Amino acid sequence: MKIFCIGRNYADHAKELKNDLPTEPVVFMKPATAVIKDGKPFYLPDLGSSIHYELELVLRIGKNGKSIDLPFADSYIESIGLGIDFTARDLQDKLKGKGLPWELAKAFDGSAILGDFVPYNSGEPFIFHLEKNKEKVQDGNSKDLIFKFDFLVQYLSKYFTLQKGDLIFTGTPAGVGPVKIGDVLEGYMASNRFLKCEIK
Ligand code: ZN
Repeated sequence: MKIFCIGRNYADHAKELKNDLPTEPVVFMKPATAVIKDGKPFYLPDLGSSIHYELELVLRIGKNGKSIDLPFADSYIESIGLGIDFTARDLQDKLKGKGLPWELAKAFDGSAILGDFVPYNSGEPFIFHLEKNKEKVQDGNSKDLIFKFDFLVQYLSKYFTLQKGDLIFTGTPAGVGPVKIGDVLEGYMASNRFLKCEIK
């Protein structure tokens, strides 16, 4: 199982981290060992002083494909859910500053929290938000994506064979911030809670 992540896919988030808007998707990956699911807690790792949450819409691929044409791309998406792309932000800033890969800051154990998934119906706008300790901290809408779902499937499949079960974290809207021990993160799609994660 492969986990793809897309960086800077919402203009408001790119702006808050003072990044330019990308002209092509920013892609990185996480290993399967990054996944935490079934509501298990996230144990704060000792990787610098600021571990940030990033709530994202996550796509699950339903069938294998390579070099997928845009008109068929949606049919490869089986389900959609929410996930958190945990990021060691100060470490990432250091790596970025040196022009180095981001894996150490993005792909560590527990850095991919997965919530519930529902069957994917193309064309809907997906509206989602994150609450930290019952206070809303992030608001997102799939219509604000710079690179849309079907384009991401097409783009990734030029480079990688997509396989059933692969995941695509599609990017985070503005409002990212640090977590500390004792925080509780809850992700909602529309008014339904899809994800809960306690920080321990
Ligand atoms: Zn992210």
